[in-house]
Amino acid sequence: MAGTHMKSKTKADYREEKDRWLAEVVKKAVLSAPTSPCTTKCPDPAIIRDLVFHKPVAPEITKDVALHLTECPDCARIALTYREEYREQKENSV
Ligand SMILES: [Zn+2]
Repeated sequence: MAGTHMKSKTKADYREEKDRWLAEVVKKAVLSAPTSPCTTKCPDPAIIRDLVFHKPVAPEITKDVALHLTECPDCARIALTYREEYREQKENSV
């Protein structure tokens, strides 16, 4: 039952982790009704796309956008759309 704890994480593992984390963030944002308008400025959808597509994004921007996604259902929905696009691309490239 104990896993091979010696195994170090690969880049793909990190991608998977980030992907899962992003999915969680997005899901939560979409599920929680927009009770209040978001306090931060909406980021450029292109940045959300880069984030979802695992393009290199500056850590502070990643943090800002992730935080924004948790409080802005509109942007969360955009992220969700890109996520589906990403999944499709991944499937097609296999
Ligand atoms: Zn927003």
